Amino acid sequence: MNAVLKNYVAGEWAAGAGISRNVNPSNTKDIIGEYAKADSAQTLQAIAAAKAAFPKWSRSTPQERFDALNRISTEILSRKDELGHLLAREEGKTLAEGIGEVARAGQIFAFFAGEALRLTGEKGASVRPGLDVEITREAVGVVGLITPWNFPIAIPAWKIAPALCFGNTVVFKPAEIVPGSAHALSEIIARSGIAAGVFNLVMGSGSVVGQTLIEHPDVAAVSFTGSVATGRRIAQACVASTPMKKFQLEMGGKNPLVVLDDADVKVAVEAAVNGAFFSTGQRCTASSRLIVTQGIHDRFVEALTERVKGLVVDDALKTGTHMGPVVDQNQLDQDISYIGIGKDEGAKLHWGGERLNRETPGFYLQPAIFTGATNAMRIAREEIFGPVASVIAARDYDEALAISNDTEFGLAAGICTASLKYASHFKRNSEAGMVMVNLPTAGVDYHVPFGGRKGSSYGAREQGAYAREFYTIVKTAYTYPG
Ligand code: NAP
Ligand code: MG
Repeated sequence: MNAVLKNYVAGEWAAGAGISRNVNPSNTKDIIGEYAKADSAQTLQAIAAAKAAFPKWSRSTPQERFDALNRISTEILSRKDELGHLLAREEGKTLAEGIGEVARAGQIFAFFAGEALRLTGEKGASVRPGLDVEITREAVGVVGLITPWNFPIAIPAWKIAPALCFGNTVVFKPAEIVPGSAHALSEIIARSGIAAGVFNLVMGSGSVVGQTLIEHPDVAAVSFTGSVATGRRIAQACVASTPMKKFQLEMGGKNPLVVLDDADVKVAVEAAVNGAFFSTGQRCTASSRLIVTQGIHDRFVEALTERVKGLVVDDALKTGTHMGPVVDQNQLDQDISYIGIGKDEGAKLHWGGERLNRETPGFYLQPAIFTGATNAMRIAREEIFGPVASVIAARDYDEALAISNDTEFGLAAGICTASLKYASHFKRNSEAGMVMVNLPTAGVDYHVPFGGRKGSSYGAREQGAYAREFYTIVKTAYTYPG
C-alpha cells in the first residue's frame, strides 16, 4: 500500500487525524488508496489559512486568476484518460463516463479562466444631480465547498473554479467515499501558482469537517450539493451563524420524462435509458419517472425493455460495460429496499432489479423497470438514486403534465414529442429548472445555468455566467466629484 494521501492546508500537504480507505465498488478487494481524514482542528487551520490568504487573492489581477485557472484546465485535460480511470475506479461509473466527466471539469476551469477577465461593473447617472453611481462586484470571502460522491470531479470543479475566478478563497470538503478524484484535482490546483491558503483540501466526514465549516463565523458562504436532509441542516446552520452566511444548495430530484403518443419511440427509449440508467441512475438529473400516454404505452415499454435487456452491467473499467456498479453497500441497500417497497405498493416489477454477481465482488444491480406505478407511490415520490425507473401511464398530455409537476422536486424535466405545440407548452409550464425536449433529463452544458426549483435547489444558480451571483457580492458606490 502506498503512503496515505494527505490534506492540503495553508500550502502544505498535511496528515490528518485519521485514515479512510477508498474502495473500488466494482471490486471491493481493490483498495485504491488510503486518504487522510481531518478532524475539527485541521478544518479550523484550513479556514484560518483561507482567511489569511483572502485580502491578497481577492485583489489579485484578473490575469493572475486567468493564468491559474487556465493552467489547471490544461493539466486536467491533458490527463483526462488517467484521471477518468481513477474516477471510474473509485465511483463505479463507466470508464467512458469517467473520462467524459474529467474533460468536463477541464472545460469548466477554462470557462472560468475567461470569466475572470470578463467581470465588469456598471456606472450610471444618479437621480441626484452631480453624483455618479457605480455598481461593482467583489469576492465574498472564505467559501466552504461541500460536494457529493456521484460527480467526484465535475461538481468540485463547478464550485472551485468560479470561487477562485472571482477572488474567493476556498476550503473544499469532498464526499468521504470518493477522495481520489478530489485529491488528484487538489494536487493540480496546488501546482497552479496560487498562494498558500487560497485553496485548501480537507477530506473527512460531513459530521466533523462539514459541520465545522457550516458553523464557523469566518466562512462567509457555503455551496453544497447533496441530499435534501443535509441541505436543510446546512441552511439552518448558515442562518444560525453570526454573521449569517450566504448559501447555495443543489439537492435531489424525481425527474419526469414524459413520452407522448406522437413521440419517435427510438428517441424516447434512448432518452429514457440514458436518463434512468446511465451512471447507474446515480444522477440528480436521472429520469426516475417515465410518464407515458396510453397510445404509445405498450410499444414504449416493450422497446424500452428490449433495450435495457441489452445493457451490460459489469466492472466499470471493462470495455463493453454499459452500466457500472452501485457506489457502495449503503446505496445498494437503499436501491434494493425501494424495489421491495415498489412491489409492496402494487407496482409491477416488469424487468430487472436483481442483484448480480460478476468476476470480482462488487455492488452490481440489474437496471429495474416498474410498470403500473402511480404517482402517489413512494417509488414515484422519493429519490431512490439508483437504476430504478417507474413507468406511470397517463391519459393524455394534460394529465402527463400534471403528473410531471406533482412532485416536491423540480430539477429537470423532459418530454418526447413531435409536436411543437406540446413541446412549447411543456417548456413553459414545467415546474423544473431545466427542461429537455426529445433529450434525456440528464446531460447539460457547462456555459449555461444549472439548477432547479421547489425542493431541488435553493439560492443562486450554478455554472455559466450565472455563477457570479453566488461567488460575488455587489457593491453600490456613490461619488460626488465636487
Ligand atoms: P449527502 O449525504 O447529503 O452528502 C453530501 C455532502 O455533504 C458530503 O460531502 C457529506 O459528507 C456532506 N455532509 C454530510 N453531513 C454534513 C453536515 N452535517 N454538515 C456538512 N456537510 C455534511 O449526499 P450524498 O449521499 O453524497 O449524495 C447523494 C445526494 O446528492 C442525492 O440526494 C442527490 O440527488 C444529490 N445530488 C444533487 C445534485 C444537484 O445538483 N442537485 C447533484 C449531485 C447529487 P460525507 O461524505 O461524510 O457524507
Ligand atoms: Mg452520504
